[in-house]
Formats: sequence, structure tokens, C-alpha cells
Amino acid sequence: MEKIIEGEYYLMKITILGARGSVPTSGAKTQVFGGSTSCVLIETDDNAIYLDAGSGIIQTPDIGDRQISILITHPHFDHLIGLPFFPYNTAPGRRIDVYGKSRSEGTIKEQLERLISPPLWPCTLSEYKADYCFHEAEARFSIGNIDVETAESRHPGSSLIYRISFDGKSIVYATDYEYAEDESSKLSDFAKGANLILLDAQYTDEEFAARKGFGHSTVKQGLRIMQDAQAKIMRFVHHDPRHTDEMLKKMEDEVKSDSVAFAREGEVIVL
Ligand SMILES: [Zn+2]
Ligand SMILES: [Zn+2]
Repeated sequence: MEKIIEGEYYLMKITILGARGSVPTSGAKTQVFGGSTSCVLIETDDNAIYLDAGSGIIQTPDIGDRQISILITHPHFDHLIGLPFFPYNTAPGRRIDVYGKSRSEGTIKEQLERLISPPLWPCTLSEYKADYCFHEAEARFSIGNIDVETAESRHPGSSLIYRISFDGKSIVYATDYEYAEDESSKLSDFAKGANLILLDAQYTDEEFAARKGFGHSTVKQGLRIMQDAQAKIMRFVHHDPRHTDEMLKKMEDEVKSDSVAFAREGEVIVL
């Protein structure tokens, strides 16, 4: 198994497996930033934590014998559709821990089974050879020596924001988040001092004005959160399916910052 070690410290290795929002895209115009939907892999020496299970999860690298956990923000299908194709589903007895929040629609297991069960899919997750275990995502819990905190997002039907901390380093995953001036301090306080923020910036200013209440934010709003949180690195995620590479590059160029970029499928960040 590959060790993630630099000097005497274990590090977190983050791989963007999918950064597209709402629905996967394909074709020549979305090759640079990618067309797979929400999935980010965080590897430590012992753990492999997947943030969401969009179509990006299908491209997981070999994670060796690391303990698998999947943290689900919410059950909109762009965040789940990769799960039936997760390569480790077919590994007999391989334990897969899934975390998410119970809502009025049911427990996280029940929410996933709305999509992943007949007639929408031929079987449930429990019928795969892997050993699926479902857990309530409390405000604070741990996965081995990794601390996880959750906060409520601003999104139709609600969604969770995760903060994952290990060895003094923190990553905040805030996809499917709609910015509101009077409530933005909740997120910037939650993300205070994070080494990396992955933040929803699906819309241009014009699109945001036309799609209030859809549950997504803009670049300018994201930059404000980053500044207030005093975070070190930011990657914008949940790219609009209508935004081509050309548009995303233009939006990125307007930011003019070395520490801020639009996430590219396949990008690896090591903390
Ligand atoms: Zn989404
Ligand atoms: Zn959503």
C-alpha cells in the first residue's frame, strides 16, 4: 500500500473525481474541467473518505486496503448516481461505511434506496457483495483518527456541509450551498482557518439573479466566504452543466489568484 508520508507527518491527499454539478456532461466542450458529477476522495494513511458519490466515484484510483467511508451531503441524484458503479461494491465482504443525515424522507439508507432500488435500479446496495453499513452524520463524529464536523447548508430539501480534520489540517466541503449576505458568517465561521475549501460556485452573477432559491452560489460570493474564513486554498466545484471549458476558464481568469481555481476532474492536492 502506498504510504502518504512527507517527512515525519502523514498527509491528506485529495483527488477531485468529479466536479460537475446537477447532471453529468460529455463531449469536446467539457474535457478540461470534466463531466463527472460530485465526488472528492480524501486519502490518509489508513482511510479513504469519499465526499459524495456522483458519477466521479466510478473513477476511483486503487485505494489499497484503506477503510472506505462515503459522506453524503444530500440525496439529489447528481450526488448518488455513481454509487451503483463503485468498483468496491463487488469486493466480497469489503466494508463500506456510509454517513448522511436523516430527513423527513427517512434515514440515509432509506434516502439512497429511493434511487437505488427497483424499479429505478435492479437491486439495493445491501445486495452487493461489499458490506454496506449506514450511519447518522451527527454534528461531530470521528472516523478512526479523523475528525468530522457537519453543518446545515442552504439548499432546497437541505444538505450537509462537512469539515474533515486530520493532523492539524482541515478540508471544508460546501457544495450545493446558496449564499445569503445575512447568513454567510455561519459558513465562514464553520470554515475558519481551513487549509482547503471546496465551494459551490455554479452560477455567474446573472444566473444567480435569475435562479434565486435553486441552492447555488457565485464566484464573488465564494471569494467573500474564503476571505472571511481566512482559508488557504479554494477550489470551486459543482460546475454548471451548461458551462463549457471556455466559460469556466474565463471565470477563473477573472479571479486572478494563485490559491483559487475551478476544480478540474483528476486534480490532486496534497496537504
Ligand atoms: Zn448537486
Ligand atoms: Zn442538490
